[in-house]
Amino acid sequence: MSSTKHPSRRGGKPGKVRAAAVLLAVAFLVTLISLSVPGCSWFGSDEKKPEKKAAAEEAEPLTCPLCGLPVEGQPAIDRRPIAVKIGNDPEARPQSGLDKPCVVFEELTEGGITRFMAVYLCREADLIGPVRSARPADIEIAFPYNALFCHCGGGPDTLAALQASGLADLDEMAWTGAYWRIRERRAPHNLYTSTSRLRSAGDGAFPFHGEVTGPFEFLTDKEQAKMEKERARETKKTAAEQSDPTGTYTPSVTVVNNIYIPYQSLCAVKYTYDATTGRFLRFVSGAPHIENTSAAQLAADNVIVQYVTETPSGVVDVRGANSPDLGVLGSGRAQVFVRGQLIDANWQKSSRAEYTTYTDNAGEPVKLKPGVTWIELVPASGQATFD
Ligand SMILES: [Zn+2]
Repeated sequence: MSSTKHPSRRGGKPGKVRAAAVLLAVAFLVTLISLSVPGCSWFGSDEKKPEKKAAAEEAEPLTCPLCGLPVEGQPAIDRRPIAVKIGNDPEARPQSGLDKPCVVFEELTEGGITRFMAVYLCREADLIGPVRSARPADIEIAFPYNALFCHCGGGPDTLAALQASGLADLDEMAWTGAYWRIRERRAPHNLYTSTSRLRSAGDGAFPFHGEVTGPFEFLTDKEQAKMEKERARETKKTAAEQSDPTGTYTPSVTVVNNIYIPYQSLCAVKYTYDATTGRFLRFVSGAPHIENTSAAQLAADNVIVQYVTETPSGVVDVRGANSPDLGVLGSGRAQVFVRGQLIDANWQKSSRAEYTTYTDNAGEPVKLKPGVTWIELVPASGQATFD
């Protein structure tokens, strides 16, 4: 049946020799071409690879480098992150805009009251506040983000250090137009702003042409599903097994339902894990910590407790309370809470320009759930607990 289709293969020896010679020549040519043109093939099989690669790249959603969440387009992430200092005195609550950052730092100030640095990149916040003053550690924290640093003043030493640092500084004292006071609250808890107002004020003075690189690695959906499975399996283990009198029982993972951050009572924080969303719901001073406009409870996809060495800075506030200097440069212990599990970690930040890294006991970076990460800077004299 092939005879009609391939008449040239029929016939005597001379035809076979000619055919073999032609085949050899073709093979030689093909080899030459493949060798001289990388990625090019006579048969075209390689030609499909770039297409496949391009298709795979297209299929990968564009994500925010700071929080790992999908974004609509490049403009949402090709811009300068914004870091805003937000108060957490009882009079400052409920705050506005704490549901929109990619990363939030909580740090201790005078008299046991905490304050936030909220870092915004991929989402807009129409109302952010109350905006408060800067502290020395803020420079180290904001620097690797290349952030537009937004605050309302600070101690003379902090302001001098800020100026010397070269950070894009949008202090309200110099940039009054980027902020406004609201009537509903009293100073100093009434200064507000928005991401668009901050950008329109800061973009001209501090143009940004770089690419934002992020501090974290993120878990894939598959890795998250595996963690939830491990958690569910460990939770199901019988109480008898867990209270093994021989004390030999070792859980395969450390299941976490609640985290207690040891700030003083006015700012004491609890997070409760919600396995249906994979998020930690935030409570402050015994009540749900809500966002002012939406009245929705704030939640963290990841909670990192970073133990820092606290030293008196010599800066005293109006009530005579000493402002602690938080040692965020160097290294120390950390606890990473992700997907309802605890991962013991170490943190390290060797220079102002570097992000803090959080590595597990094997020295590998701890991967996080895509979403908002709350970093709790806790003095090493305290200890977060969980159950
Ligand atoms: Zn983001």
